[in-house]
Amino acid sequence: MSPVPLTTVETTPELSTHADVVVIGGGIIGVFTAYYLAKRGMTVALLEKGRIGAEQSSRNWGWCRQQNRDARELPMATKSLDLWEQFTAESGELTGFQRCGLLYLSNNDKELAGWARWGEFARTVGVNTQMLTSAEAASRGRVTGRAWKGGVYSPTDGTADPSRAAPAVARAVMKLGGTVHQGCAARGLETEGGRLSAVVTEKGTIRTKIAVLAGGAWASSFCRQYGIRFPQAAIRQTVLAVSAGAGELPAALHTSKISMTRRGDGGYTLAISGRGRVDPTPQLFRFAPQFLPMFKRRWRNLAPGGLEGVRSGHEGWSRWRLDRPTPMERMRVLDPAADQSVVRLTHRRAVDLIPALKERSITAAWAGYVDSTPDGVPGVGDIASLPGLVLAAGFSGHGFGIGPGAGHLIADLVTGEKPIVDPRPYHPDRFASSAWGKVADF
Ligand SMILES: Cc1cc2nc3c(=O)[nH]c(=O)nc-3n(C[C@H](O)[C@H](O)[C@H](O)COP(=O)(O)OP(=O)(O)OC[C@H]3O[C@@H](n4cnc5c(N)ncnc54)[C@H](O)[C@@H]3O)c2cc1C
Repeated sequence: MSPVPLTTVETTPELSTHADVVVIGGGIIGVFTAYYLAKRGMTVALLEKGRIGAEQSSRNWGWCRQQNRDARELPMATKSLDLWEQFTAESGELTGFQRCGLLYLSNNDKELAGWARWGEFARTVGVNTQMLTSAEAASRGRVTGRAWKGGVYSPTDGTADPSRAAPAVARAVMKLGGTVHQGCAARGLETEGGRLSAVVTEKGTIRTKIAVLAGGAWASSFCRQYGIRFPQAAIRQTVLAVSAGAGELPAALHTSKISMTRRGDGGYTLAISGRGRVDPTPQLFRFAPQFLPMFKRRWRNLAPGGLEGVRSGHEGWSRWRLDRPTPMERMRVLDPAADQSVVRLTHRRAVDLIPALKERSITAAWAGYVDSTPDGVPGVGDIASLPGLVLAAGFSGHGFGIGPGAGHLIADLVTGEKPIVDPRPYHPDRFASSAWGKVADF
């Protein structure tokens, strides 16, 4: 079976010695942060220990949605949809973004009532979403050949192509004069007078006053090296891709049993929403009390995992030395094992829902670690105990779609411009206390 589809991007041959900002992590958050900083004329060095986009940012479904967003993230989601469009218009790089609309179908009254409640709230902030009657749901979902009690359709939402998006943005960073260093882990930070003064990489040191830590599932272990408490838990989710084929299928469809998304190559990504394994690691035990409300809410879809997390090393306990390889250099790309029982179940459910899918072969199956915070909202903002360090991680399974808005916000915070959205709901200060935050509603 082929590996996770992902386009390649060139690496800048020479490591910069100085930069206005160093961005650590070349996922969708890091690349968009670097892009908006470079657009403002700052010198930016983007560091990626493996390949641009190779962790969560290429393993996701590609949904860019306002629909069912927690109120704290909705403004960022709305801005991001415009920014996805603007990015292609201004850079000429293709991310596969299109406002194809997202379709949700259900036979469950409680679920439908929840969507209706969300729709009422969304209208108060100007978001367009349409509840579907049973007849409308059957019509929009006719490919299933079933009756549905109802559904919801969000016409202004869309999808981007995870196999192309992060590399496309990294190319745009280089066009603007930024440097992109793949196979280059940031091992740690240096300080002078209590302020950040340099980022130490496996290939040399970059002098800088500001570093943005967009390290996805690695961010908490990185923070721990500096006594910064960032509660993060990684949930292993399994996804499969099927080939392109004949017949018109919806671009993006969610039901409680199965979700499907058209890919850039005409194939489909299939998955069971929320289904995942929790691999026990030292970090998981450390933060478990803070995650109890989240796990309680999602327990039906979560199962205990195995030693996968310990083997991967992203939630280890070691102290890293700056003059020796760190766990990040041993694990260039987090590529956890797909759960084969979930692969079989997903395919069975998809074919059961849409028999036409039987004609399409499975081309790839993979897993990704979703990096979550206890309240399901990312941690974005400066770290008071280490001036010059900005955290941007914990996007909790819905960070791909808001990548442009998050990157813009981080660039605003770094340059002191008016923030594109209110940054307060994201500030990492809320993790300092052990009090339980509000778990994201959806
Ligand atoms: C199966 C699955 C389905 C999903 N579906 C969706 C969806 O439909 N819509 C949506 O919006 N979101 C979705 N998500 C979530 C989304 O993929 C993530 O929220 C988003 O990609 C996070 O981006 P990121 O840049 O923070 O992290 P990542 O993409 O994980 O990138 C972090 C990068 O940092 C690098 N790195 C870490 N530490 C260092 C270091 N010290 N030095 C150098 N490099 C370092 C890593 O190698 C990695 O490439 C899904 C996730 C999964 C796994």
